[in-house]
Amino acid sequence: MDELESKSGMEIRYLGQSGFQLSKGGSSIVIDPFDRKSGDLVGEVVYCTHGHPDHVGGIPTFLDRNPGAVLVANEQVAGQFKRYSDRTMIAQDGGTYRHGDWEFQFIEARHGFLRDINIGVVVRNGEESFGHLGDTITYEGFSSTKVDTLAVPITGVVTTSPSQAIGELKKFEKPLPTIVVMHWVFRNPKSFCRRLLSEFPDAKCIVPEKGELLPL
Ligand SMILES: [Zn+2]
Repeated sequence: MDELESKSGMEIRYLGQSGFQLSKGGSSIVIDPFDRKSGDLVGEVVYCTHGHPDHVGGIPTFLDRNPGAVLVANEQVAGQFKRYSDRTMIAQDGGTYRHGDWEFQFIEARHGFLRDINIGVVVRNGEESFGHLGDTITYEGFSSTKVDTLAVPITGVVTTSPSQAIGELKKFEKPLPTIVVMHWVFRNPKSFCRRLLSEFPDAKCIVPEKGELLPL
C-alpha cells in the first residue's frame, strides 16, 4: 500500500492515454488502464469504459496483482475477459455500483464506432467526484450531471475532436467542471485548453502529466 497516500482528499493520477488512478482513504481504483505498466498498481476496482486495447490493456496485470479486486465493465468488455468472470460486475447505462466508499454511476456515451458500447462513468467518494467519458462523440447524459472534474477525449473520429469537445461542453449547465484532457494522440492538448479558455474564461483546463497527480 506504499503507493497510496493518506491525505483526506481524493487524489487523481494520470496513467497515460485515458488511464487514471483515483485514491482516497487508503483505497484505490483504476479507470481504463491501457498497458501492463498502467495496470501494475495496487487497488480494489478496475473500471473500463469499452473494449479497445488502449482502454483494457492493463486489466490482466491489475487483476493478477490484486486477487481481491473486481472488474467492472459493460458486457462486451466482460466477454473479452471471461477468465475473470467470477469477479466481474456488469455495468449498464443508468446503473450504479458501490464498493466501499466508492460509488460508480454509469452513463452510456456513443462511441465513434457504433458497434462498440462505451459506458462513461462518474465516480464519487464522499463530497468529491470525477467523470470519465471514455471514447465518445457525444457528452449527452453528462451535460446535466454534477461532477467536480471531467476527463474529455480529443482525438477525433472515435471520440470528439477538439472542436466537437468544445461544442459538447457548450451544452453543459454552467459552471463547467474542471476539464482534464485525455486521449489526445496526435492532437495538441495545450492548444485545446487555450481554445476552451477563450470560450469559457472562468473554466479550468488541465493537461495531465503521465504518472503525476492532477493539480486540482
Ligand atoms: Zn481509445
